[in-house]
Amino acid sequence: MDFSRSLTRIILQKNSRTSSTASYASFDAPLRTLKEGLHVLELFHGPTLAFKDFGLQLLGNLFEDQIHRTDKSINVLGATSGDTGAAAIAGLANKKGVKVFILFPEGRVSPLQERQMTCTGAENIYPIPIRGSFDDAQHIIKELFGDLNFKASYGLSAVNSINLARILGQCIYYLRAWLQLPAEERSKPGTAGPEFIVPTGNFGNVLAGWLASKMGLPIPSFQIATNQNDILHRLFTTGSYHPGKVDPSLAPSMDIQVASNFERYLFYLRGKDGNVVASEMARLKERGGLSLSDFDPDTFTATRSDDEDIREAIRSCYQEFNYIIDPHTACGFKQINPDRSTVILSTAHPAKFPETIKESIGIESTHPTLEALKEKPPITYPAEPNASAVRELIKKHA
Ligand SMILES: *Cc1c(COP(=O)(O)O)cnc(C)c1O
Repeated sequence: MDFSRSLTRIILQKNSRTSSTASYASFDAPLRTLKEGLHVLELFHGPTLAFKDFGLQLLGNLFEDQIHRTDKSINVLGATSGDTGAAAIAGLANKKGVKVFILFPEGRVSPLQERQMTCTGAENIYPIPIRGSFDDAQHIIKELFGDLNFKASYGLSAVNSINLARILGQCIYYLRAWLQLPAEERSKPGTAGPEFIVPTGNFGNVLAGWLASKMGLPIPSFQIATNQNDILHRLFTTGSYHPGKVDPSLAPSMDIQVASNFERYLFYLRGKDGNVVASEMARLKERGGLSLSDFDPDTFTATRSDDEDIREAIRSCYQEFNYIIDPHTACGFKQINPDRSTVILSTAHPAKFPETIKESIGIESTHPTLEALKEKPPITYPAEPNASAVRELIKKHA
């Protein structure tokens, strides 16, 4: 797979801005052992305290490299319901030649996430609250990218969740985890080796692991952990892929119904035949669902956690191990096989979701990075919720 070459380049090029030494110089993915054979991979030590920093710190440096090479400035445009916007802003703040315009639904992202976007103090960041929903914001973005003249003359670039560079940046922490496992657990006699449990919504996080395994990292199995928006759980247990309505949960960053990265996995299942995948996706669109009768879940299993399971996991993990997990990570505790060495991916720091932690175990979870934000003044550039208002705002500042 050509990905492995790109990945090797990212890891080894020590002098490049895109190397992992540059992108991940300030944070790591430590493996924390809860008990023998049970580990949590902490992916929340980056600037926004969530695993999306692994993809977006790299992407920020890739953009910087591109600007350097082409001598052309760019304007990054995106819509967010929270986490992605914050991580994209952290990856691009203060970078020369980039301006970042991020739309978000006013009053509908968590106060902490809003501060992460609006209190950076960076002059090249334009957080744009609009009166409307996330879908309205997304709609405006689509319209502006569809305006090809505007797109070309302002060098518009996207940072959406299916950006492949982001997925590549995420492959790295699977390798990092594997290297930290005790040698005897990497290939325990009589067992298949470690199982990785991955909280996922868009299938991005777990796809990165699966790609790493295809590149040669010996991870024999993955467990997909979903919240009550369980389209992936249904898919991997029944072969039926039927998007429903989003049901807001305590793990909001996994509240999705169409797992856009699944298409990429399907591509490999279908022998890398893009035409077959395209016609299956067209059928999905047409009929609102897809039954994959010959679907072989291969190395994947799946679980589903509702809000009560999430609270219960936070409580029992705290009682048993004196360790606080965030509500997304909590979905990974649903079904742990005691006979396997297990790595649960922890996707966010619990302090990002203080209400749920308080409600579950009565503890105020805080983090100095988040506390420091409260001291800084928020800067926003409000716009009317339509494409022409946002276009004017970009023209004025770009
Ligand atoms: C984005 C996010 C997820 C889901 O990631 P996918 O790429 O959809 O698999 C899980 N947890 C947290 C905290 C997130 O921000």
